[in-house]
Amino acid sequence: MTWKEFVYQQIIEYCNRIGSRTFSLRDFYTDKKDQFREFRPNNFHILEKVRQQLQFLRNDGLISFLDNSGHYTLRGIELLEVEKQEIKSIDISKETPEKKEYIIETYVRNVNWAKKAKEVLGDLCLFKNCNNTFIRDDGTRYIEVHHIIPLCKGGEDGLWNLSVLCAHHHKMAHFADIKTRISIEKFLLKEVKLRL
Ligand SMILES: [Zn+2]
Ligand SMILES: [Zn+2]
Repeated sequence: MTWKEFVYQQIIEYCNRIGSRTFSLRDFYTDKKDQFREFRPNNFHILEKVRQQLQFLRNDGLISFLDNSGHYTLRGIELLEVEKQEIKSIDISKETPEKKEYIIETYVRNVNWAKKAKEVLGDLCLFKNCNNTFIRDDGTRYIEVHHIIPLCKGGEDGLWNLSVLCAHHHKMAHFADIKTRISIEKFLLKEVKLRL
């Protein structure tokens, strides 16, 4: 097995264990140091080697940069174990790519980013003049977090690609005709940029 294959395999194992596609190089390396040492006992520059492999994996589109402070997003695999678990009641094998993305996004998200999105963007739909909302049992307002550019189309799991929408406008962002979808995408990107 090559270094690149080994590092990618370790990333998949790590992300599955922590239940998130987003990871930091520091935490990942701290967690995996011993495995890397075992893999190549004679290598004394393991961190540099791992960094280099992450660069190769980025070139291959298997991971991508989330920010400039050493956070990455795992790509290249359709679903993490934890995601499979959470959607096992829904048969997504029969769904179209757009529907699938919507289902995955609605039921499983990086919870930390979703929380952060609500903190920064609020709990009201970002769509023009939308007042469509309701209060839940626990007194909080119902809102859905949406990836403006879908992860499957290369969008990031970072804050600048997240928006908050009511259930209706969220469905529109995914299933309306292409012209409407593009105009929603443009509007949301602008709106989120203003608020960050
Ligand atoms: Zn969405
Ligand atoms: Zn709305």
